[in-house]
Amino acid sequence: MKSSLTYDQLKSAASEYGTPLYVYHAEKIVSQYQNLLSHFSVANTRFFYACKALTNIHILDIVKRAGCNIDCSSINEAKLALHVGFEPQNILYTSNSVSFDEICEAIYLGIHVNIDSLSNLEKFGAKFGATYPIGVRVRPNIMAGGNLKISTGHDKSKFGIPVTQLDELKAIQKKYNINIATLHIHTGSEIKDVAVFIKSADVFDNLLEHFPTVNVLDFGGGFKVPYQPDEKGTDIPLLGAEVNKAIEYLSKKYGRKLTAWFEPGKYMVSESGYFIAQVNVLKKSGDIEFAGINTGLNHLIRPMFYDAYHHIDNISNPDGDKQPYAVVGNICETDTFAWDREIPAIKEGNFLVFYNAGAYGYEMSSNYNARYKPAQVLFENGVVKLISRRDTFEDLLLLQTPLNK
Ligand SMILES: *Cc1c(COP(=O)(O)O)cnc(C)c1O
Repeated sequence: MKSSLTYDQLKSAASEYGTPLYVYHAEKIVSQYQNLLSHFSVANTRFFYACKALTNIHILDIVKRAGCNIDCSSINEAKLALHVGFEPQNILYTSNSVSFDEICEAIYLGIHVNIDSLSNLEKFGAKFGATYPIGVRVRPNIMAGGNLKISTGHDKSKFGIPVTQLDELKAIQKKYNINIATLHIHTGSEIKDVAVFIKSADVFDNLLEHFPTVNVLDFGGGFKVPYQPDEKGTDIPLLGAEVNKAIEYLSKKYGRKLTAWFEPGKYMVSESGYFIAQVNVLKKSGDIEFAGINTGLNHLIRPMFYDAYHHIDNISNPDGDKQPYAVVGNICETDTFAWDREIPAIKEGNFLVFYNAGAYGYEMSSNYNARYKPAQVLFENGVVKLISRRDTFEDLLLLQTPLNK
């Protein structure tokens, strides 16, 4: 598996900051963004980093310095973006099932909002009418994505306004003269097939005649990145070429200059991240050799939650003979990271690294079993720095009211 940080860099970070530890590589995030930019020139595409993947402000700052925009899933993410210095016009808030108060708050902050229910659209119309351009998230009834938990565009999904409710949508738009500026579709995560994004273009094609004020088509995120050593991610050059074509075609057909937006989360940060843990115990049971590590589903839940594959390397013995291991956590649940996985021979005390840990790793971590959340460090220009510290025992008590004893 190719890694943009060296084993020595990873090992020295683990020794200096302790484990478990999240390690990120700034240059990798920037190069992912630049790769996207280079393939979407014609469509004048804008990219909004879906920051729910990883919200540490130092990461957001890298994204901002690279010139990328930002997509938020909650009002607090939007406030983090403002805190880091993003301009409101470069912040997108894709809401779902949120209160109308939160939508108002976002509007008062001057950020672009995607509304995803007729109910909130009606409330928006009644309050703001045509005064504020708004985005509408539609549900295309397309099945796509790595698995059901990360599929959002199918006909039983909670996300977006179903395309079958076009008449109701149009009626609300007309009633309040709402300025619908963007149409949004996000079909899911880990979408390898470029054709899925082009299907969204077909859905937009059917909608554009009904919404003459729309000039932005937002295709959402969900680009697949390779997790297994020989796996392929979404073909970005092909996607760029196809989207450029679709935007040109639709612009001509409807006599408007349309622009494409995308909201990549995983693509931006997944491969920049490494999660390092240490082996506490080796336990042999029949044919199975368990490697019990000093972390668990509280720190990296994707293998248990999504059956996600994370490539694992033994950075303490990278050239050792490979043997099959069951890599398990230390939480009182069955928290198996990998079963029957070939890894260079492990000794207790070795450092194991999980690749592709940048997206939905630390961000989904918790204090389950009253364990500390890991520290996070960042390599930039070859220099490593701490970007969030490990919890302390006091942190576990911080939010709890003291006992009156
Ligand atoms: C989660 C999400 C994304 C990003 O998905 P990735 O698979 O990480 O690229 C983009 N847009 C919306 C609306 C999302 O909810």
